Amino acid sequence: MVDKVSIQGLGIAGSVLAEKLSSKGVKVKAYDPQKEYVKPCGEAVPVSFFSNDYLRLTDIKSRVNRFMVKVDGKTVVDWDAKKTIWFIIDKKKFVSNLRERALAQGAELIWSTGKPEKGVYVDARGPFSQESDKTIPVYRLIVRGVEWDENTVLIEFDSRKAGFYWVFPAGEKIVNIGGGFAREPKKVVKMVHNYASHVLGKGEIINKAASIITIHPKYRILEGRTFYVGEAAGFVMPSTGEGIRPAILSAEKLSQALLEEDSIHSIYRNYASSVKPLLMESRLSYTLFRVMLYKKPDARARLLSSLPRVFWKRYFSATLSSWKELFFSFFTQI
Ligand SMILES: Cc1cc2nc3c(=O)[nH]c(=O)nc-3n(C[C@H](O)[C@H](O)[C@H](O)COP(=O)(O)OP(=O)(O)OC[C@H]3O[C@@H](n4cnc5c(N)ncnc54)[C@H](O)[C@@H]3O)c2cc1C
Repeated sequence: MVDKVSIQGLGIAGSVLAEKLSSKGVKVKAYDPQKEYVKPCGEAVPVSFFSNDYLRLTDIKSRVNRFMVKVDGKTVVDWDAKKTIWFIIDKKKFVSNLRERALAQGAELIWSTGKPEKGVYVDARGPFSQESDKTIPVYRLIVRGVEWDENTVLIEFDSRKAGFYWVFPAGEKIVNIGGGFAREPKKVVKMVHNYASHVLGKGEIINKAASIITIHPKYRILEGRTFYVGEAAGFVMPSTGEGIRPAILSAEKLSQALLEEDSIHSIYRNYASSVKPLLMESRLSYTLFRVMLYKKPDARARLLSSLPRVFWKRYFSATLSSWKELFFSFFTQI
């Protein structure tokens, strides 16, 4: 077990890591320029993965069982799973509770950017650690006073702009609406505002925020003495934008390796083998994303419109984790 770890970034991955290591007596020093975690997000997590321990650290804003997919305005899927598939969580509360736990367990949290230090050093800066050509801007609004079913999400693909809008419930008469596009990404702000007025009509915008997300992940878990975790390591699903589960899972695996091993080499080997399934899942998601990206808009729209229902079921349930599952999704009926 290592006795001292410094972490740059206290978002999802960094906070999980700081909490897990400090609970076992590791001396943790962690840096983040933002004392309040303000990163905008859809805040959707698959129920099957989010344990009761994590549930105790947050509030559930909505429980999602119905998924609608549109391609350029046309509905291609309307799936009612009849059970909760996603929680929409309070991500800020989740991070803040993890940070508080870490602090109570003796971690030192410093509100500045920080820099590599002696000993084991972890980069958990999320997409801010990836190079700028690997990320795109993403924009979202929180809109209050709208008629929107509290259990339904809508994903609408824009085939020309190679991206999608989302409308997620975020409490009673509140929605989280946003988008991200690989083509002409800088138009995202205007596009999301236009889309919100088109889909929601009237409503009061109570929060607007922009951030970035990794669409061409640079996969790395160790460079020099620096370990990478979460989106900084490339653990994100480019075809869906899902990054909370990968950030938590990779942080759990890294903390386990740091607690079980004591040399950089053995920590690396332990961490690398335990995140292999996650890496494969992210690579598969990236391949799907690239297949879409490099098609002409018409072909992209046709492909998205013809995907089988099982594909979407797996897409939303976060169970498209291997080529085998992808393959069978094309031959299974539901
Ligand atoms: C608009 C939007 C919607 C999304 N919706 C979803 C969703 O619904 N479901 C889902 O699963 N994923 C979603 N994602 C992706 C998800 O938010 C991220 O993948 C996830 O938060 C990554 O966790 P992380 O800990 O790796 O990084 P982050 O949570 O991004 O944390 C990085 C931390 O590093 C800090 N930092 C930045 N620069 C420095 C520095 N120089 N020094 C120190 N610290 C620094 C930041 O302040 C931040 O606290 C969304 C992303 C965006 C942008």
